[in-house]
Amino acid sequence: MPLKAAIVPVTLFQQNCTLIWDEATKAGAVVDPGGDLDRIEAGIAKVGMTVEKILLTHGHVDHAAGAAELRQKLGGIPIEGPHLADKFLLDSLPDAAASFGMEGARAVTPDRWLDEGDTVTVAGAKFAILHCPGHSPGSVAYVNAAQSFALVGDVLFRGGIGRTDGLPRADHAMLIQSIQSKLLALGDDFAFICGHGPTSTIGHERRTNPFLA
Ligand SMILES: [Zn+2]
Ligand SMILES: [Zn+2]
Repeated sequence: MPLKAAIVPVTLFQQNCTLIWDEATKAGAVVDPGGDLDRIEAGIAKVGMTVEKILLTHGHVDHAAGAAELRQKLGGIPIEGPHLADKFLLDSLPDAAASFGMEGARAVTPDRWLDEGDTVTVAGAKFAILHCPGHSPGSVAYVNAAQSFALVGDVLFRGGIGRTDGLPRADHAMLIQSIQSKLLALGDDFAFICGHGPTSTIGHERRTNPFLA
């Protein structure tokens, strides 16, 4: 069965926490539970899904600050990703959250760090890992070739790219390199869910994204 996806916007940053699941088995994963766990749990209940694991695209507070608590609430399911280079962000989540007045954030250590070429499974479906540094040094994209869709976090947006100003260890040139060499290389037919805002396709961004001209 093809996977389904649903977006639950969370935190004051309206981050796209994403549920992905197999409609036949109802097994699935929660991607980037940044906070507002009540909303995420309501989404899980509405789908009726059994959460196998939590995936993180990167270590920023709006993506990862609810991960440790959700892991505990769901009985200790594994957290996979991001890349080890974002460890410094995951370690300092309580401080980062406090600076935005967000409560309840916990530092989190994933059960598995991911790197370029690794594979993650969700409900038996395979996702290839692309390490896409730039917005953060440890950002990863999850790529499902069978359905031509990817989850890219804050690397690439519809009409935009990830911020690099004022963020620790961010690098604009490296971000552009990650997008050009890895995401655009997926091909125009690929659809993607990003960390904020509407979904898009690689072809749409290649043709119209002003940051990639
Ligand atoms: Zn971010
Ligand atoms: Zn974000």
